[in-house]
Amino acid sequence: MKDQKRKQKYYYDPDTLSYRKVASRPLRKLWQFGLFFMASALSGAAIFYSFNQLGWVRNSNEIVLQRELDNYKQDYQNFIKRLDRTAEALENLRQRDNEVYRLYFEMDPIPEEQYYSGFGGVNRYRKYEGQNNSELIKDAAQSLDVIEKAIVNQSRSLDDISEMLPKRKEYLTAIPTIQPVKNEDLRRMASGYGWRSDPFTKMRKFHYGMDFSAPVGTPIFATGDGIVKRADQRASGLGKHIRIDHGFGYITIYGHLSKYNVRPGQKVKRGDIIGYAGNTGRSLGSHLHYEVQKDRKQVNPIDFYAGTLSAADYEILSQRAALSNQSLD
Ligand SMILES: [Zn+2]
Repeated sequence: MKDQKRKQKYYYDPDTLSYRKVASRPLRKLWQFGLFFMASALSGAAIFYSFNQLGWVRNSNEIVLQRELDNYKQDYQNFIKRLDRTAEALENLRQRDNEVYRLYFEMDPIPEEQYYSGFGGVNRYRKYEGQNNSELIKDAAQSLDVIEKAIVNQSRSLDDISEMLPKRKEYLTAIPTIQPVKNEDLRRMASGYGWRSDPFTKMRKFHYGMDFSAPVGTPIFATGDGIVKRADQRASGLGKHIRIDHGFGYITIYGHLSKYNVRPGQKVKRGDIIGYAGNTGRSLGSHLHYEVQKDRKQVNPIDFYAGTLSAADYEILSQRAALSNQSLD
């Protein structure tokens, strides 16, 4: 203190006509520094304020939170992508189920709409960019809905298929897969299924079966295992005819016979001789009229021979059956 007092200097101020203390150098420096600091702080605050107004400055908390949010968003997008891949795997399963398993067991395919039950299937063209978080969550929930529904339907389909398995052998022997007459050189094929000229009226008429030219007495075979439902003359135009129920919705009809070899109620095996060709009923000459019905509708018998004929023979038979000639009725 004493030392400081000794160093105290004065100067004469002509304005006030008095001596004034000369401020020590460190004090003056401190004063200058203070001023400089104040000015810097003020301009800094002004700059900060304007930057903040422009949104260029965020506090560290905000930055951390934003980074966390970005990470969550990325995680969510990856999660949804994985859900999509799962849904796509299920879609492949559905297609394989329809194209292989259900086809093999002759079951109707499950359409996409039913499989996904109105959820619209897999969104293969999803746009992740520009989605906000609530949209992402909605997307994820929707994908899960689709997947859950598809799994239930896939599991049901597999149940159906495993139910069909034991019946498969029975089914394979029951469906009408062979030709009803011996036709090794394929020359017996007279007229096929489709629009033909009526042999009596010469008018265009739909022919619902296949005609095989065959002399009276030619053996006629059951084309699949089944039960004889009818063997009588009471079907209009068909003369002496036989009707076999094969189950699984299949029925075959054999018309214009000369003789029966079976009676109603009898069980028959594929290849059994059920009767003999003839010219009874509305018939132009001795032949067999053969019909296949699936679920009470006539279908083209040629579709069933593919498994029992060589590819080349099937081709020849198809061509002959397709000839737009006159049927024998
Ligand atoms: Zn016919």
